[in-house]
Amino acid sequence: MAPSKQHDLIVVGAGPGGYVAAIRAAQLGLDAACVEVERRLGGTCLRVGCIPSKAMLESSELFHKARNDLSGHGISVGEVSVDVGGVLKRKDGIVSRFTKGIEGLFRKHKITRYHGRGRLTGPGALVVEDPDGRGVTAELTAKHIVIATGSQPSSIPGVEIDHQAVGTSTDALSYESTPGKLIVIGAGVIGLELGQVWKRLGSEVIVLEYLDRILPGMDAETAAMAQKSLEKQGLKFRLGSRVTGARTVNGRGRVEVEGTSAIACEKVLVAVGRRPNTAGLGLDAVGIQTDEAGRIPVDVAGHTYQTAVPGLHAIGDVIEGPMLAHKAEEEGVACVERIVTGVGHVNYGVIPGVVYTHPEIASVGRTEEQLAEAGVAYNKGVFPFMANGRARALDDRPDGQAKVLAHAETDRILGVHILGPYAGELIGEAAAAMEFGASAEDLARTCHAHPTLSEALKEAALAVDGRPIHI
Ligand code: FAD
Ligand code: NAD
Repeated sequence: MAPSKQHDLIVVGAGPGGYVAAIRAAQLGLDAACVEVERRLGGTCLRVGCIPSKAMLESSELFHKARNDLSGHGISVGEVSVDVGGVLKRKDGIVSRFTKGIEGLFRKHKITRYHGRGRLTGPGALVVEDPDGRGVTAELTAKHIVIATGSQPSSIPGVEIDHQAVGTSTDALSYESTPGKLIVIGAGVIGLELGQVWKRLGSEVIVLEYLDRILPGMDAETAAMAQKSLEKQGLKFRLGSRVTGARTVNGRGRVEVEGTSAIACEKVLVAVGRRPNTAGLGLDAVGIQTDEAGRIPVDVAGHTYQTAVPGLHAIGDVIEGPMLAHKAEEEGVACVERIVTGVGHVNYGVIPGVVYTHPEIASVGRTEEQLAEAGVAYNKGVFPFMANGRARALDDRPDGQAKVLAHAETDRILGVHILGPYAGELIGEAAAAMEFGASAEDLARTCHAHPTLSEALKEAALAVDGRPIHI
């Protein structure tokens, strides 16, 4: 018989939402446990998401720079080549160190770890099932259970993901050699990041996108500038392309697009979004039905993240909202703090989003389209990186700009959208300013070190009032 054990709080899933929730619970004095079906902790983000993709973006960018950009600095190097095996080995090493790091954090906080699939059996009760099908290995009860089971790649009708020629982001993080031609379905975040990785490593990359723009949901002007910049670097986009099928034929990919002839290629990366992981979770045992997108309904507005069942909570990719690691983390903390202290919240108006391409694309707050749709009058200030000394020192002809959107009457910052070098680092300042309710004038009057990229943000804030200094 499987051993029974009781904890104060059990988290199902050890991704950024789940492991952070478990740590915060332990910090607050709870006896916390975490059930994870994979051998390695860290979830999608650490194993097959944020961290490995950024490692490969870095390697491929260095290769691209060494091949194309060093002569402009007066540096000559011999023939530059890349060993894809070496890129993958470095990436795997980084992932391995990070996942082991989470194990260390669990030990430090005395969090009990169960390896297996968590399945709810009733309110406050779940079993841990052996991932290899050897049955139930533990029966657990807790006053509080937090579901943090994340998400997995989704697909579209007619596209047969067989992990041979046609695969997902997880496959594209491990291609053993550079595909001659890579077709990416979807010009969202994954399509752009991994498309750029393989383009820089030598593939011909064609991105097929159903809509007439890339990065739906992001600020349209910024996305259009990003598209131009990526095209200059050789990425090809076919917008308004409806993919109707994709499959492996004799080891190669074949993609069908409405209205045109089929495209043959070495690999197809399906990057059309992700769907929540709820299959086999036992939601029916507690009477919970998922919404139309397969997500678990919870009380987000009240920041309790409680489902319709008292004591049962859900956070991260498995609930509504952007599928981002930091959003999952914030929810994990807020959920547990609410349980223990009664206080805790997430400011959904200030969740930054970053696309780690070159140049990076970063955004926080509302887009121009959202403000227009809501009928909010705003002033706009932009500043190009071409006029920023640090950006020019990094790159002779840097693409992109910083854009600040501020309320027309109060001057309060409503949104910041940046395309440019290290935009993902710069957006932190904008997020902090917005969190403190800053006006564009506050940002404009803050002394920024010279020469830094952050001066572009200050100048964009000055431009909101029509007084940038350097343009
Ligand atoms: P997950 O990280 O998906 O973790 C859920 C965990 O639950 C998994 O480990 C899973 O094995 C486990 N699990 C599922 N069901 C069960 C069960 N029944 N029992 C036990 N365990 C279970 N986000 C960013 O913010 N920045 C990025 O740069 C970024 N890059 C990405 C790149 C790629 C290629 C991908 C695919 C995603 C990326 N994301 C990024 C998104 C990010 O990975 C997710 O938003 C984040 O991991 C969600 O965290 P989570 O804790 O909700 O779920
Ligand atoms: P996405 O939602 O960002 O983009 C999917 C794209 O596929 C959209 O542009 C959509 O219009 C397009 N599409 C849908 N159906 C199509 C069809 N039939 N033919 C052609 N195009 C089609 O999804 P994703 O890129 O798969 O990423 C999934 C999630 O992972 C996102 O929510 C994202 O937040 C997260 N993620 C984040 C980061 C980051 O923060 N840097 C990186 C990677 C992934």
